[in-house]
Amino acid sequence: MGSGGEKSLSPAVAPLADAVAGLLELPLTSLSDDEVVDLLRGLETCARRLAAVSHRLLVEVQERSIPARAGARTSKRFLMETLRLSAADAGSRIAAVRDLGVWHTMDGGDTAPALPHTAAAQAAGEISADHAREIAAVMKRVPRGIEDADREAAEQILAEFARSGSPDDISKVGDRILAHLDPDGKLTDDVDRQRMRGITLGRQRADGMTPIHGEITPLLRALLDPILAKFARPGINNPQDPNSPTGLGGPIDRHALAEAAERDHRSTAQRNHDALVAVLQPGLALDRLGSHRGLPVSAILTMSIADVEKRAGVATTASGSSVPIGEALKLAEQADLFLAVFDHHGLPLHLGRTKRLATPAQRLALIAALRGCSRPGCDAPATLSAVHHITDYGKGGTTDIGNETLACDHCHSLVHDGPGGWKTIALGDDSRFPGRTAWIAPRHIDPDQIPRVNHRHHSGELLADTLARIHEHNRQEHQQHRRGPGQPPQPGTTAA
Ligand SMILES: [Zn+2]
Repeated sequence: MGSGGEKSLSPAVAPLADAVAGLLELPLTSLSDDEVVDLLRGLETCARRLAAVSHRLLVEVQERSIPARAGARTSKRFLMETLRLSAADAGSRIAAVRDLGVWHTMDGGDTAPALPHTAAAQAAGEISADHAREIAAVMKRVPRGIEDADREAAEQILAEFARSGSPDDISKVGDRILAHLDPDGKLTDDVDRQRMRGITLGRQRADGMTPIHGEITPLLRALLDPILAKFARPGINNPQDPNSPTGLGGPIDRHALAEAAERDHRSTAQRNHDALVAVLQPGLALDRLGSHRGLPVSAILTMSIADVEKRAGVATTASGSSVPIGEALKLAEQADLFLAVFDHHGLPLHLGRTKRLATPAQRLALIAALRGCSRPGCDAPATLSAVHHITDYGKGGTTDIGNETLACDHCHSLVHDGPGGWKTIALGDDSRFPGRTAWIAPRHIDPDQIPRVNHRHHSGELLADTLARIHEHNRQEHQQHRRGPGQPPQPGTTAA
């Protein structure tokens, strides 16, 4: 068919069409592996930037009312007919240009895109249309009452995350940010949650089974998560396997557990069910639940003293869920759990059990400080992570907390010196995140070899950091505005 059906190709895309034709003919066999990957990455960057070009055109199409003049009922229908797009594709392009396009005022001036940071990242080829769509979905959930600066900070953080993370993870990051933006649940408050709470055991059927449904509060979730993390693991408490470890009384033989997990074909739902059977046995004291990955099987709550003082914000559990601070404090008073409280600089003020002291404080400190796997982009919570020594930190690295980090099993297996291996380093005091573990991705993922920390479990701190920068920026702009244009800023007015 030759070079496609470019009957009336616009002159503006002629050079692009030539370049694409060249790429289609480019001999690939002579390229090295690295060159193939570089080409793949370069092409992806260009494709993402092209989507941003398409946004500019779609703004033009709509501002000129081209669809109406062409007799199409909607812009979406116009795209479906003109470019032969599916309804879903056309719809998502129209939605994207609403959020990311630069629209114009009546006098021809530009208005900033609704999601400026996302639009900039896509125009730079750093994020895909999928990333942008996920960010837009999160931003739609930001409550109306939120301040503009907070809204902007949230979008900035999501765009920043998207630059190195997967689109699949954006909604989870968004959940965390939303929990911080609306920590007291102004929209959904405690009264609402208490109204919604409930577990209903349906009528037992003739076959003996009972349906169950309901909604549980953050409190019950925080209590259940650590129990399920241990007793619903593959291999444990499998009623079909007489040799499966129970996890009750004494440590579990790792080898036996690994073998039992191989034989375990239960679904997650079935394993959750069997875990409840195990822990609800009559006469079983919760003390006998033992430990999981060196941590007690009870709720672990992390909170900052600033939040405690304000009685606002959220506490984070080791399994990564959030509990409003008021409820967390109530829980800390009543229940036998582990509590970590941090001061204004993020240093531990209190680490320990509310009623009894047990198990290494170091691990609690790591959980409290890291909250989960430390590899950038990984969302495995602390309950699914283990303590690992940071590699390449001198022989026989100490058990000092500075030489330890949390990593889930999968991520830990990625750290090695072979091809495709990741490296970890401890960040020094001069870094933005002193004491944290930074990961360096292999070259095919990050050719620039920049050490990065995981922000997945720290959206709160990022939010505060970004907010402070935006407020400072606005303050300076405001002052500049009051002094009038052309006058240099006065010394001493900028932030340290
Ligand atoms: Zn991980």
